Amino acid sequence: MCAALCLFFLPTRASNAIFTALEQSQDAIEITSEDQVIQYVNPAYESIMGYQQGELIGKEIIEVPKSEKNKPDLLETINSCILKGKEWQGIYYAKKKNGDNIQQNVKITPVIGQGGKIRHYVSINRPLNDNNKSEKSTERVQAESQTDIQSSKHKDRRKGSLDVKSITSRGSDGSSQRRHSSMARIHSMTIEAPITKVINIINQAQESSPMPVAEALDRVLEILRTTELYSPQLGTKDEDPHTNDLVGGLMTDGLRRLSGNEYILATKQPHHLPSHLATPLSLNDIPPRIAQTMETEASWDFDIFNLEAATMKRPLTFLGLKIFSRFGVCEFLNCPEATLRSWLQVIEANYHSSNSYHNSTHAADVLHATAYFLCKERVKQSLDPIDEVAALIAATVHDVDHPGRTNSFLCNAGSELAILYNDTAVLESHHAALAFQLTTRDDKCNIFKHIERNEYRTLRQAIIDMVLATEMTKHFEHVNKFVNSINKPLAALEENGGNSDEESVKSVLTSPENRILVKRMLIKCADISNPCRPLELCIEWAGRISEEYFAQTDEEKRQGLPVVMPVFDRNTCSIPKSQISFIDYFITDMFDAWDAFADLPNLMQHLDNNFKYWKGLDERKLHSLRPPPE
Ligand code: AMP
Ligand code: ZN
Repeated sequence: MCAALCLFFLPTRASNAIFTALEQSQDAIEITSEDQVIQYVNPAYESIMGYQQGELIGKEIIEVPKSEKNKPDLLETINSCILKGKEWQGIYYAKKKNGDNIQQNVKITPVIGQGGKIRHYVSINRPLNDNNKSEKSTERVQAESQTDIQSSKHKDRRKGSLDVKSITSRGSDGSSQRRHSSMARIHSMTIEAPITKVINIINQAQESSPMPVAEALDRVLEILRTTELYSPQLGTKDEDPHTNDLVGGLMTDGLRRLSGNEYILATKQPHHLPSHLATPLSLNDIPPRIAQTMETEASWDFDIFNLEAATMKRPLTFLGLKIFSRFGVCEFLNCPEATLRSWLQVIEANYHSSNSYHNSTHAADVLHATAYFLCKERVKQSLDPIDEVAALIAATVHDVDHPGRTNSFLCNAGSELAILYNDTAVLESHHAALAFQLTTRDDKCNIFKHIERNEYRTLRQAIIDMVLATEMTKHFEHVNKFVNSINKPLAALEENGGNSDEESVKSVLTSPENRILVKRMLIKCADISNPCRPLELCIEWAGRISEEYFAQTDEEKRQGLPVVMPVFDRNTCSIPKSQISFIDYFITDMFDAWDAFADLPNLMQHLDNNFKYWKGLDERKLHSLRPPPE
């Protein structure tokens, strides 16, 4: 790192001031890297030594001509001192660019970086006024001065002074001035980043803090300087293998690419309307058996698998019609019900019924949970009608064309989708993009056709944001942002004497940034709410996701691909253990936070029961979904 760049990590004002001090100093200052490559010389150095900065930066010290007037072993002595991390101070002859020798009082200070290694050497050189001093006296000072810093510190107080004007009036040297001012500009640009502002505020607070606080803030700074601020750091050794595999499988993508094996997904055309299936003309035409199954859809305990059976695996179209009608989506979009119906059918046809988990029943389940959450008082206070419509559409499309394989798998396999989306949020990007392609390419199913352009843009942005929020690599980021920006401020307002200030609560709930966080949390919780469903439904979902993971492991083995989640091997996997890990790692904290916001006692009760159920099986060392029959 360029030494000047180190200054960026200082508090704003302090770093500017220190940079100015360097530039204005009358001492010639030179900064080198640990391997003694010149990284910076100040204007005084240029002026005294006759070099331009550009001629020296990047050169090794050893390449710069040396004066023959120094004692032959002096350089060796200096090096042996500073390489040990000790400061050296003494008199030294330097050779100017024009060949003249100049006698200077030199102080070289090694700068130790984090981890105790030398990172730079700072050399401060003050020309001695009396250039005619005898070599004898020089030698004497040299002998005395070496490492004897304290005694020599005040020996060479400068008598004369360098002509300050000669530095500050370097205006004639246009290029040099430009260089310095652009350096200052970069300097102030970089420190404008929000994280730098945060670091600066902490730095400044440290200056006036007692030692224990300053030390605690040091640790805070260390964490802030890392890039992965939202992902918990999972220990490598003793961590439970189920958690490890779930984290590895769900929270990583291209980074885990271990093999160059090619896996090309079956390239297929998106599905069109399935003409052979009888489809309802409108809500009124829904067959009575299906209508009856959906009567309880407003309840959390609604059984989606009954609907799956009653609709012959097309629950999304039917439930979509009912829920969208309940929320007045057609009125909002100004679209005929027939268009909504066609749209639901096209979207459902593009879910893979062959996936055991990521099929249209999962989408219908997420739509159901989304609709349930949208009816909660706090959520209603926070969101606008357009947010509700966006959430319902996002839930419907959020896993469309899911291939039943994880992002890690697609990246490892070099699939077409992974190539298209650069190994980044591959599936979620595909779900969102395909949803809009399917919707807009045919007027018959274009539910957006009749809304105003700006409204479409807002809606589209919100849908994309929510679908992308279901990507598990961002799980902790979304949850933590929600807790910090919404849960905590609301709790603080409520604590203020109980009768919280309505206006402040409203502004927390409805600010545009917070509404985005609420929508992300809502779809995330809806997406992985299966551990909060009634026990029988929870068990069914656990069986389905396990089967999908097993099928992936089977294929990885068949294709010689890296096995992303080795614990999900159908021959050895403990499903109860995997569910305990999933709940512990991803679910508990997230639903605690969501419950604190939306008030969901029923879900929390189920979660508790279900967790105990898996624990019970695990304590009996059972690996299956259910205990064997008595
Ligand atoms: P999505 O692909 O949008 O459904 O994202 C949710 C992720 O959570 C998926 O990768 C699922 O595999 C995972 N998931 C959901 N439910 C469970 C569960 N009960 N056990 C383990 N993983 C799950
Ligand atoms: Zn999903």
